[in-house]
Amino acid sequence: MLKQIPLNHDDVDLLQLSVMKKYIQFLLIITLMTGLQNCSYSQQPASKKTAMEENKENKSNPVYSRTDSSKVNIAEEEWQKILPKEVYSIARLKGTERPFTSKYETSKEIGTYYCKACGNALFKSDTKFDSGCGWPSFYEPVKKGSIIYQPDNSHGMTRTEVMCGRCKAHLGHVFEDGPPPTGLRYCINGVILDFEKKD
Ligand SMILES: [Zn+2]
Repeated sequence: MLKQIPLNHDDVDLLQLSVMKKYIQFLLIITLMTGLQNCSYSQQPASKKTAMEENKENKSNPVYSRTDSSKVNIAEEEWQKILPKEVYSIARLKGTERPFTSKYETSKEIGTYYCKACGNALFKSDTKFDSGCGWPSFYEPVKKGSIIYQPDNSHGMTRTEVMCGRCKAHLGHVFEDGPPPTGLRYCINGVILDFEKKD
């Protein structure tokens, strides 16, 4: 027969402590598992959101239109509000994206490239060529007036800046080393392009 040893006060405290520890561990595991489950569940809607977000971007931009050709002239603060950060830095601050980073650089898809800031048609895919310079390159704009030109003497170079003919967003530069028939190379930041595939 086992002799019952009465637990003293300290033993009881220790016992309670170890039970509590186990309980807390259990709670932690449960929380972690639920957290992980939430993570894997939230992955799917998150990836779907990107396409939706892209649509939303254009919808939340009140000047974006592929049919309205009237000039857009709004304050810089307004542009900052309606354009995604990376688009704003190219379009309005005349930034340059890192070379070989645009999905459009080597794209051979048939369609039209629009201005990401305002929806103005800029280039057709059949005037796109592989320049190897690291940025999407075209030899001719959609039409005269879809692009405007301005001398650019920044960074110790003499270049011609090209801007959107509708909203004056900075697009890139044009050089005279392109292929026939124009001999021009429109070197354009992919971030400022919005592509629509032809059906
Ligand atoms: Zn534009």
